[in-house]
Amino acid sequence: MKIAIYPGSFDPVTSGHLNIIRRAANIFDKLIVCVMVNTGKNPMFTQEERVELIRRVTSDIPNVEVDYSAELLAEYAKRKGSCVIVKGLRAGSDFENEFQMALINHKINPHLDTMFLTAEHQYMYLSSSTVKELGNYNVNLSEFLPEQIIPDFQRRIKERRQGGNSK
Ligand code: ADP
Repeated sequence: MKIAIYPGSFDPVTSGHLNIIRRAANIFDKLIVCVMVNTGKNPMFTQEERVELIRRVTSDIPNVEVDYSAELLAEYAKRKGSCVIVKGLRAGSDFENEFQMALINHKINPHLDTMFLTAEHQYMYLSSSTVKELGNYNVNLSEFLPEQIIPDFQRRIKERRQGGNSK
């Protein structure tokens, strides 16, 4: 069974992420979407919340599993019996960084390869941080976020604005 890992911060999962998930799930027998700890970012949603949001938007895809981990990705993949990491590649910005990460992961675990799926044109410039920025304005978010999570996102934006929640 070919198992692939799709890692990321998914804070929150966007329509661009979901597009990659659907396409990767069509290629592999099983796709594990893994929320990784990213200490450099001040997250909007906790890891558990992000997992729950991804589970909700992928509930119709039977071969997708959602998990979170603080492990080194190369170690995590080994433990899960996976030899492929899937990454989405957007125009320009992602390449340098992702290329370096792919080489490092392969160095740490020589059985591990990284496969890149190019972003669909309508999601090419979409990132979680852009969506968080847009959330502060009165913009229709349905092109950027899966419908099922828009209320959660708007609620969190409001909480943060009111200062009642430090997330
Ligand atoms: P973001 O950059 O949106 O915060 P993550 O850090 O969670 O996203 O990225 C997880 C993975 O999803 C990475 O491989 C990233 O390149 C990919 N990705 C993010 N946004 C898109 C998009 N709009 N289209 C395709 N891939 C994407």
